[in-house]
Amino acid sequence: MLRSPLALVAAALVALALAAPTVAVAGPKKVAVVTTLNVLAAVTKEVGGDRVAVSALAKPNQDPHTLVAKPTYKVAAKNARMFVELGLGLDGWASAVTDASGNPDIQLGQPGRVIASDGIATKELPATLSKSWGDIHPQGNPHVWLDPVNVKQIAANIAAGLGRVDPDGKATYDANLKAFQAKLDEALYGRALLDEYGASKLERLSRRNELIDYLKTKGTYDKLGGWLKRAEPLRGLKIVTYHKTWIYFCDRFGLVIDGEIEEKPGIPPSQDYLAKLITKIKADGVRVLFVDPIYPSKDGAFIAGKTGAKVVASPIDVGGAPGTGDYFALIDTLITRSLAAAK
Ligand SMILES: [Zn+2]
Repeated sequence: MLRSPLALVAAALVALALAAPTVAVAGPKKVAVVTTLNVLAAVTKEVGGDRVAVSALAKPNQDPHTLVAKPTYKVAAKNARMFVELGLGLDGWASAVTDASGNPDIQLGQPGRVIASDGIATKELPATLSKSWGDIHPQGNPHVWLDPVNVKQIAANIAAGLGRVDPDGKATYDANLKAFQAKLDEALYGRALLDEYGASKLERLSRRNELIDYLKTKGTYDKLGGWLKRAEPLRGLKIVTYHKTWIYFCDRFGLVIDGEIEEKPGIPPSQDYLAKLITKIKADGVRVLFVDPIYPSKDGAFIAGKTGAKVVASPIDVGGAPGTGDYFALIDTLITRSLAAAK
């Protein structure tokens, strides 16, 4: 009896599936990496390539500030050769996980521990610390990864860590790092501007928030491309954000933060506070509200109803919304959603 083409395909697939484990066993053992946040896992994949097997502990739509270490986390960390946390007090539960794991190689100060934010200058350093101000971050605003320029440093820290725990792969990690940083530069500035000035000059100007003025003065603004060009209609746009998550994104792309929906960081708004905020939003002409999906949506919807401002569901982590499967897609999505709301 003749077999149908479909049955032949099915038989071939079964044969492939049976053959697959043999192929996997033949390859070298991957370096197991555990990260706190998904964005750190995404960057580790870019830098580690197929030498690493990486998993994130937090789900993309869990609030990283308030996450409590679960028993399953320590099991994942027990077998990890490298553990990556953001630091700056955001994922403060990281050390509870590594302590409980009993894995000596990933403790603070060991070669297998990476603080991804090392070397990044933070913003909004509090002048005074007081619990009455809410959940203030003493080392400054920790949401540094929402600026692509900072992600170049995060990637460098992760590549250095991988080189320590897997010296045989160091050349690969260094090459992958260079390629990822170049891809970030091109996504941010576009090819023509990179050809004109080179990445390090553009990065210097960007860090001082002088790039756009510089290009206009030099008459080279028309060479600007990438995310910065796409974000042109957002420059000067006043927004109100649910949490103090967005200073790095807004400073990079020119949006102006006019206030927060949270009364204090980590503390939801009272009726009184909301009434004052609505008056301010109307007076200042704020048209866009950023509400991270990790926070309740009802306050943003209430303000939108009273003011006509539009709510942007603004994911903060890779995987936090459909179509944000890597870092590039996350920034693309944030810019696309902001542009749609600003129209
Ligand atoms: Zn925060």
